[in-house]
Amino acid sequence: MHMYSSYRGRIAPSPTGYLHLGHARTFWIAMERSQEKKGTLIYREEDLDLNRCRKKFSHAAIEDLKWFGCKWQEGPEQENKFGPYRQSERMPIYLEAWEYLKNMGLIYPCSKSRKSIKKASKNMENFHNEPIYPEVWRPTKIDYFNIKIPDGYNWRFRVPSDKKIYFEDACLGPCQFTSGKDFGDFLIWRKDGVPSYELAVVVDDIAMQISEIVRGEDLLISTARQLLIYDAFDKKSPKFYHAPLVTDSKGIRLSKMQKSMALRELKESGYTPELLRKSDDWWSGFN
Ligand code: GLU
Repeated sequence: MHMYSSYRGRIAPSPTGYLHLGHARTFWIAMERSQEKKGTLIYREEDLDLNRCRKKFSHAAIEDLKWFGCKWQEGPEQENKFGPYRQSERMPIYLEAWEYLKNMGLIYPCSKSRKSIKKASKNMENFHNEPIYPEVWRPTKIDYFNIKIPDGYNWRFRVPSDKKIYFEDACLGPCQFTSGKDFGDFLIWRKDGVPSYELAVVVDDIAMQISEIVRGEDLLISTARQLLIYDAFDKKSPKFYHAPLVTDSKGIRLSKMQKSMALRELKESGYTPELLRKSDDWWSGFN
C-alpha cells in the first residue's frame, strides 16, 4: 500500500485550449515534487469561464497529460471528501466565501469598466504594467448585509494601500510585493455570475489542503494577491514554487494560440514524451 505523506500538490489546467509544452513542464515539476515527498497530487479542472472553456479541451487535457506521463492520485474521476474537482461544480463553496468576505467588509460591488480603470490608473509605470484601481472610486464602508447574491456586479477586494507581502519561493527565493503599488483592488466575483480566478483558487487550495503550489512564473503577482485572501480567511498559505516559463525560439512565452507547441501537435509530429522531456529545448521551447 502506498503511504501518502501530508504533502498535497495540485495541477490545475483550464480547458480553454489544448495544453502545450509549457503546461506539461510545470505539471511535470509539480508531479516530481509531489513524488519526491511521497505526496498526493490533485488534478483540478478550472472551468469557471463558461465563454472560454470547452468540453473537448477538458477531455483533451486529461488525455494529453496521461500520454505525457503525468499521474495524479485525486481528480475528477474520484469522489472523496475533497471533491468535486471541477470548479464549475463547486459554486456553493465559492458563494459561502463571497458572503464571508462581504460580511467582513473586505469586498465591495463595483460598476467601473476595465477600460475606465486602465484610463484612470495613475500607476501604469509599475513593473508589471498593472492598472491600479483608484482608491477614490471605492465606496465608503457601508454594509452589504442586505445583498444576498453577488450577481450583476463585479466585486473587488479592498487592497491595503501599502502592505508588504513576502514569501519565500522554492524556485525563485525571497519574493516581495507591495499591495496598492504592485497591484490594486482586484476582482473577487465577476458580474457574469462566477467567482474570479483569485477567489476560486484560494478557496479550493484551502479546501483541498494543498501544501505546496507549483505554478508558472506568470502567476507570481496573482500569488501576492492570493496571500491577502489567505489572510482574510485567517488561513496559513501553502508554500510556493514558481516555475520559469517555456518560451519559443524568439523568447516569447508559449500560449494556447501557438498550435505548434501543443502536446497533440508534438505527438502528431512523432515526438515521444521521453524525447520531449530529454530535450535541452525542454527549458526553452523550440520551433
Ligand atoms: N488554471 C490556471 C491556469 O491554467 C492555473 C491556476 C494556478 O496555478 O493557480 O493558468
